[in-house]
Amino acid sequence: MQNKKVVIVGAGISGLSFATKSIQAGHSTILLEHSNRIGGCFDSHRFEDYSIELGAHTCYNSYRGLISIIEKYGLVHSLLKRNKVSFKIYNNGKIEKILKHLSLIEIFFSLPKIFQVKKDQLSVQEFYQTILGSNNYKNILGPSFNAVLSQDAGPFPANSLFKKRERRKDIFRSYTLQGGLQAITDKVAQDKKLTILTECTIEAFTQTDHGFQLRLGNGENVTADFLVFATPVSHSAAYLKDLNPALAQILGKIETASVESVGVIVNKTKVKHAPFAGLIPTDNNFYSVVSRDVVTHPKFRGFTFHFRPGLLDKKQKMTKIFEVLGISQNDIIDSAERVRILPKLNMRHKEILTAIDQALAGKDIYLTGNYFQGLAIEDCINRSFSEFERMISSKCESSR
Ligand SMILES: Cc1cc2nc3c(=O)[nH]c(=O)nc-3n(C[C@H](O)[C@H](O)[C@H](O)COP(=O)(O)OP(=O)(O)OC[C@H]3O[C@@H](n4cnc5c(N)ncnc54)[C@H](O)[C@@H]3O)c2cc1C
Repeated sequence: MQNKKVVIVGAGISGLSFATKSIQAGHSTILLEHSNRIGGCFDSHRFEDYSIELGAHTCYNSYRGLISIIEKYGLVHSLLKRNKVSFKIYNNGKIEKILKHLSLIEIFFSLPKIFQVKKDQLSVQEFYQTILGSNNYKNILGPSFNAVLSQDAGPFPANSLFKKRERRKDIFRSYTLQGGLQAITDKVAQDKKLTILTECTIEAFTQTDHGFQLRLGNGENVTADFLVFATPVSHSAAYLKDLNPALAQILGKIETASVESVGVIVNKTKVKHAPFAGLIPTDNNFYSVVSRDVVTHPKFRGFTFHFRPGLLDKKQKMTKIFEVLGISQNDIIDSAERVRILPKLNMRHKEILTAIDQALAGKDIYLTGNYFQGLAIEDCINRSFSEFERMISSKCESSR
């Protein structure tokens, strides 16, 4: 069976996980990434021997696709069990226990409704409001789901969260890695069988008799038998505008949200709060604070604030960080900021996915990302692996 040339656009976990399969199958594989770094939301900001997560932070032993990559690249020894610290509520300047904000009476009267509702027909807000109560949803569950998704989670399909996945009992239940989660994407990117071009712009895609031709910003042309888009949905839609306008139009129906993240590394002695995994604000201009207290360090503590977009400028964000952590500018040892685009799923999403898969059928274009099964890392990897299977079967078809 002849080896093929696979070009993947976007070097986050979706593109990289596709690449692991593609190189394993012996295909010549090129990854084109427009930024100057690899990993996308796998973004561990490092300072000395410490790191904070500017994007994804937690992985579970139910992430079997991710674990297969971790094992393949010999990273099992780098897994770190997360310290048992809990998420807290940030309420009017105070850090409080989640339980304090839950009404058990409301749960008692609402929970029986679980037998009357169909989760797969309801949004996050509709489902959890019904089974746990409106006040509980408003005060605690809504803000918690917003924190998980770094955006307003209410309109998401309820079954896109908390999927049941089989656990690997031989792996820590939840874990991170030495050097942060980015250690995984760094390691894949070092695979010698993979060619990666960073700071790469693509000016045009053309379909040829034999596949595709891409004109890069540096004037070079790259050819591909198979083309994989693993960029945020709005970027994939833009790239497909000329190549497959019908598909681009369908992708255009998926809305996006952005999140503005600021991470800080602080002298440990300066933060008076007891260790916590994260903070969920009851009503504020940030979705969450994710701490690095899950990994103890002798000198540092680290926190990433995920802000709602467009509300605060840089100075106001720092003021908020000082206020929440009870520190001043002098206590900050290092900091970094990012803006990310995330898909906003809604109850029409299933319909849109069916239309995408119909439009892709029989084409040598493959789409992966966090806008298919869900935003979780494992959802991205599962989509990449299933698109890879589709590619392999199309290859078998065409070589018959
Ligand atoms: C703040 C935050 C916290 C999260 N926490 C968790 C968590 O704890 N656990 C979990 O399971 N999930 C978490 N997620 C979700 C998960 O991390 C992401 O959904 C997933 O990593 C997305 O991977 P991706 O490869 O599809 O997209 P991305 O990571 O966004 O990667 C896309 C890549 O494409 C590149 N790109 C963009 N445009 C172009 C272009 N035009 N041309 C070429 N390249 C381009 C980008 O630079 C990037 O490298 C979190 C997400 C965020 C934002």
